[in-house]
Amino acid sequence: MSAEEKLQEIAAEVCTCEQCDLWKNRTRAVPGEGNPHAKIMFIGEGPGYHEDKQGRPFVGPSGHLLDELLASIGLKRTDVFITNVVKCRPPENRDPLPIEISACSDYLDRQIATINPLVIVTLGRFSMAKFFPGEKISAIHGRPRRVGSRIAMPMFHPAAALRTESYKEALRQDFKKIPAALAEAERIAAENAPKAVSPSSQSKPKDEPPQQLSLF
Ligand code: URA
Ligand code: SF4
Repeated sequence: MSAEEKLQEIAAEVCTCEQCDLWKNRTRAVPGEGNPHAKIMFIGEGPGYHEDKQGRPFVGPSGHLLDELLASIGLKRTDVFITNVVKCRPPENRDPLPIEISACSDYLDRQIATINPLVIVTLGRFSMAKFFPGEKISAIHGRPRRVGSRIAMPMFHPAAALRTESYKEALRQDFKKIPAALAEAERIAAENAPKAVSPSSQSKPKDEPPQQLSLF
């Protein structure tokens, strides 16, 4: 099955999922969208009002800011993959509960495994906690860190940036660090070529010639 087909299969499961109570209030589930072979994946928190209506991630005010930030580094939505830790809208945009995040985590894990991105950008605290448990976003935002064979970069959530100018500026600056993080992740991947390895694998560089990886 191709990556595209696997993502479609996951999306179809999400759209009929009843594994946590969030399905009860959803208009549409929001599985996520983008390039099945994206090198960069963005993980937000959960659908808001507009996302729930349209079934697409980051299409409201936060999404407009995200589009602008992507454009600032020469990227379009179709170059990357965008999803959330929970795929159904929490009522009144409340924080997702731990039980909801864990009920939904299998979908996210399968999306990550399928896309196999080199760089994961977490937007906000909830996706950050998946990769950097117990850490504070104010302390670690914008600092790329190696997680297995990938690089993860925690960033402020665009909605927080829309409320607080200093966060917006930080988010703009942090986005500018993405190309360098991607270059570093490509270097690591080339070292570990030819076979991509799972995120938790600690495999050492092999003797095979490094695989040439194009930027996008
Ligand atoms: N905020 C999120 O975290 N995700 C979306 O998809 C939209 C807004
Ligand atoms: Fe299923 Fe996730 Fe929606 Fe909960 S939030 S019903 S686990 S798709």
